Amino acid sequence: RNTFDVLIIGAGPIGINCALECKKRGWNYVVIEKGALTNSLFNYPKNMTFFSTSEKLEIDEIPFISNNPKPNRDEALEYYRRVVTSNKLNIHLYETVKHIEKEKEIFKVTTSKTEYLAKKVIISTGFYDIPKLINVPGEDLPKVTHYYKEAHNYSLQKVIVVGASNSSVDAALEIWRKGGDVTMVVRGETIGERVKYWVRPDIINRINEGSIKAYFNSEITKIDSETVEIKTPKGNLTLENDYVVALTGYLPDFNFLKQSHIALSDDGRNIPNYNPETMESNIEGLYLAGVICGGNETHKWFIENSRIHAKLIAEHIESLNESTE
Ligand code: FAD
Repeated sequence: RNTFDVLIIGAGPIGINCALECKKRGWNYVVIEKGALTNSLFNYPKNMTFFSTSEKLEIDEIPFISNNPKPNRDEALEYYRRVVTSNKLNIHLYETVKHIEKEKEIFKVTTSKTEYLAKKVIISTGFYDIPKLINVPGEDLPKVTHYYKEAHNYSLQKVIVVGASNSSVDAALEIWRKGGDVTMVVRGETIGERVKYWVRPDIINRINEGSIKAYFNSEITKIDSETVEIKTPKGNLTLENDYVVALTGYLPDFNFLKQSHIALSDDGRNIPNYNPETMESNIEGLYLAGVICGGNETHKWFIENSRIHAKLIAEHIESLNESTE
């Protein structure tokens, strides 16, 4: 019962795409997901708008219809959920994969609930579970968060938003529009170049008119219950503060990859070892798919350019099956 041709870890857009490719070929497959369906998207900010148009978020050419130029989180949740339910994909939710071990030609996969055997394993676990910490005293206080959901709880509060990427800029603008007193603390000298082209002028204008305060070339050095200390080019400052929203990025679970014996590049980028033509890692039969492939460079892969991975993997497995028939 617990033996599969292919076991897929993670039911994000790319894991779901892998499941579709397996189903099409009549393989016995399962997807194991530690949270809700498309758990990363589920945890995105409530009002988040994608930078991609809907057709670029489509998998297996199943139409994603949106009335907006760029779809929002709710529409994406609806789309991927409908892809899963209409195709009756075999997905086990709220079950975490703890360990993968290869014994001879078979993988033994241990989860929080049971054990599975699989001929092939695909890791499509994304990167949204481990925030990049700012590593300052006070970061563990309850007023600090690395995930932003919505603005209402920040209205009439003094909020520091750390970072200047898409997530930080969206949060800063939304909190300010809901009556929060927002200060951005940005390590670089400007708002990120990859910020959505229609949002960038909005944040720059709000900063220039003084509605949102911003300290560039600056960093937080300490967080206390009522204040935050920051280091700026003009000296150190202590700001009154109620909340810190630190959106400084996320990282793949490198320990999980290492425990699975996947080699990581030692150039500081931690890029997992895989063949870009087949997506097979340095472990035969163990594949990587989706944004996990970028290592520390989490901006490199997104849905639009990684949705091809599922097909590459399936075609490789198919070619191996044909050669052994
Ligand atoms: P994920 O969607 O992260 O899925 C990985 C899944 O694996 C998760 O559900 C997770 O719970 C599960 N998982 C992890 N570890 C385990 C385990 N041990 N056991 C079981 N399950 C596990 N991309 C775009 O193309 N366009 C955009 O506009 C866009 N906007 C973005 C905005 C934000 C705020 C962020 C953070 C990312 C954005 N991205 C965008 C990137 C996008 O999130 C990813 O491209 C997409 O989610 C990647 O899909 P994935 O399936 O590779 O990984």
